[in-house]
Amino acid sequence: EEWCVSMPKIELHAHLNGSIRLTTLLELAKALTENQKGAVNISQVEHVIMKHDLSLTEVFQLFDLIHNVITDHNTVTRITKEVIEDFASDNVVYLELRTTPKRNDSIGMSKRSYVDAVMEGLRSVSSVDVDFIPNTQDSTSLSNLPIITNENSRKIIIVRLILSIDRRETTEAAMETVKLALEMRHLGVVGIDLSGNPKTGEWTTYLPALKFAREQGLSVTLHCGEIRNSKEIKNMLEFHPQRIGHACFFEDEHWIKLKSSKIPVEICLTSNIRTFSVASIEVHHFACLYKAKHPLVLCTDDTGVFSTRLSKEYKLAANSFGLGRWEMLELSRNAVEYIFADNGVKNDLRIFFNSVANNME
Ligand code: IMP
Repeated sequence: EEWCVSMPKIELHAHLNGSIRLTTLLELAKALTENQKGAVNISQVEHVIMKHDLSLTEVFQLFDLIHNVITDHNTVTRITKEVIEDFASDNVVYLELRTTPKRNDSIGMSKRSYVDAVMEGLRSVSSVDVDFIPNTQDSTSLSNLPIITNENSRKIIIVRLILSIDRRETTEAAMETVKLALEMRHLGVVGIDLSGNPKTGEWTTYLPALKFAREQGLSVTLHCGEIRNSKEIKNMLEFHPQRIGHACFFEDEHWIKLKSSKIPVEICLTSNIRTFSVASIEVHHFACLYKAKHPLVLCTDDTGVFSTRLSKEYKLAANSFGLGRWEMLELSRNAVEYIFADNGVKNDLRIFFNSVANNME
């Protein structure tokens, strides 16, 4: 466990509001006025999170609750700051944080002001240096990355943002998110995600915005195969996104297509098990993809909602699939190749992981 914490890691599938600290969620929920609480039963919140199994429906009810506690920009900023601190303390050295820009007229929030509040959160972190503005020069400050054997230098975490389209949104709303991402590229927005309740919405609704994103050079990752939906999975694979998340309900034809496409898969073990998307860890598709050397990366999905951390996910994989330290480091290091940030960052991370690996030998 300790070793999994100290090993430098890369997180590529983490939803901002799903990564909220449980203590913060409860604090914010208690502070809601009776009016704001609406139908929410606060005493149930802790119980629901602590429950071992959460159906996907319950998960999305929980997200609605979390979104209800975001009553202003300051809360968005606070949650962001805490999430970054938590990933950094788990020795995540590169984080792609995703979030759905939200418009809420009643509190004067636009999609843009929401993302501005997230940026403010990145700026306000003080426990660790946060590198989130893409460098215009060739060199970065990554020589400061914490090498396992050298804890002296100040910690740094590289953060890039992915803006999510929620499956409840219209084509226009999805397009607005993509345009926002394009305007905020110089602030570290690197890609677009499609997420939200998989039982909602149609692929064709989001396709124009996703195509536009790709034409403009943004990277795209899709939540794919979270429920049985053969046709959609096929359409998504045909779109050929830069990465996909989950891939739980794939059928033979999808596996064949995925493997030949080499699209990297973001694997969220705890999330998949706790939502019953995969029956048990023993039959998780991680094993088969790993054996086939298919590109994959271990991720947390929602550290708050699923009470996990990236080091825990590595530990779980190690215990369940018999990976040694060297294999775990290789797994972590391989993720460098699937990040959405530019080649400068990629190169720095390669050099960094090389030195970590050399120190281990
Ligand atoms: P946010 O985008 O920062 O508000 O993070 C929470 C949102 O992420 C949820 O409302 C969902 O739209 C999305 N999300 C989080 N976890 C999952 C998942 O397992 N499947 C699909 N969407 C998810």
